[in-house]
Amino acid sequence: MTSPGVRLTAPVVLPCDPDCSVVRDAVVDIDAGGRIAHVGPRSSAPPTDAPLRALPGALLPGLINTHAHTPMSVLRGMGGDLPLLSWLYDVMWPAEGRLDAADVRVGMTAGTVELLRTGCTTSVEMYFFMDAVIEAVTAVGSRVVLTPGIIAAPGWDRLGTWQQMRDEVSARIDAVGLRSGPGERIELGYGPHAAYTLPPEALESVGEHARERGALVHIHVAEAATEDLPQREAYGSVPALLDHVGLLGGRVLAAHGVQLSDDDVALLAARGTAVAHCPGSNAKLAAGIAPVSALRRAGVRVGLGTDGPASGDNLDLWAEARLAGLLARVTSGDAAALTATELLLMATRDGAAAIGRDDIGALEPGRWADLVHLDLSDSAFVTPEDDAQLLSNLVWAGGSRLVRDVWVAGEQVLADREPTRVDRGATTADLRKVAARLHT
Ligand SMILES: [Zn+2]
Repeated sequence: MTSPGVRLTAPVVLPCDPDCSVVRDAVVDIDAGGRIAHVGPRSSAPPTDAPLRALPGALLPGLINTHAHTPMSVLRGMGGDLPLLSWLYDVMWPAEGRLDAADVRVGMTAGTVELLRTGCTTSVEMYFFMDAVIEAVTAVGSRVVLTPGIIAAPGWDRLGTWQQMRDEVSARIDAVGLRSGPGERIELGYGPHAAYTLPPEALESVGEHARERGALVHIHVAEAATEDLPQREAYGSVPALLDHVGLLGGRVLAAHGVQLSDDDVALLAARGTAVAHCPGSNAKLAAGIAPVSALRRAGVRVGLGTDGPASGDNLDLWAEARLAGLLARVTSGDAAALTATELLLMATRDGAAAIGRDDIGALEPGRWADLVHLDLSDSAFVTPEDDAQLLSNLVWAGGSRLVRDVWVAGEQVLADREPTRVDRGATTADLRKVAARLHT
């Protein structure tokens, strides 16, 4: 007899195991600590004295957004038709210079509600004002891997030197540990912005601090062709530079990875560096299309990311999954490049693997009970009794509009599309108040 906190039953469970199984008439047991205790068909489930909750749709793990700057929701739409560098230098950085911690908390709160409403339970965030981001995530009840930005670029010295930014993260990890908060909702890592916004000695030092603590390094790599010309001139490529300074040796997540040569792909694979693929942002800023199939073939772990809502412009990982599949197909001429199953796993299990986590991203005993409940009655599903069609319809035709309920660490944080802990109307009103000031 197990003693879970609750037993959920559903006609369909997608555990996002490596085979992407479809389990019919299934149960998901959540223990009192908020972790998965059992997943499988109801017919073979162990006896339980836990309360039962019957759900009419499909259960799957919460999605993992591996590259985001969610507080930028207050800047959404600004510089909408500019390429990366003028968007960044002429519009974003001046606007971000006017943000304070309260603004960041407002942007993160509204953005996190939006993420939950698309079924995303974990986002990997690079941003400033660490406490404001943590407060927002804690208030909404989501999960975050927060890699505070470390940068040495014009205007950013108002937040300190890169050494101070690095030390602030190290001191926090040393004080509270890598993971903290209820349900270990907060993980800390390092967010060195990019090779073109930090000197090599900063990249080397941040890598050392991260490796000493087993922390994730989250860095923009080779996004647009024009961003890193001096670095490429000096070292051949950004991955080569990062390898030269020893940064690629630990737990590293390279965001974007668009401008990569075959040698770069081989180097990332050899060093075990993961990539956060952000096809929507890369397309909107005209940065290019990352070689996602080549990366996967080489054995690189690849997750999906929305990037910030000021570049992407949305926070919908289902849209990124679809776009990733479409672009992989149209660039290769291969109609089987990235199947629905592969895309679903990229948004869940592979995303967790990309950030070095084996405790989220799948419905398996021992992992956190971060779950999404989807509406199966939607017309996107034309033959839901067929496993392959169900997965295909879900990824290609369904997506975020199907999301009804969300749990994080066993706690329901979205109920019938509304956040349970905060008032969505109020979070949106706060967002608009900050945006109105910034957009003038
Ligand atoms: Zn980014």
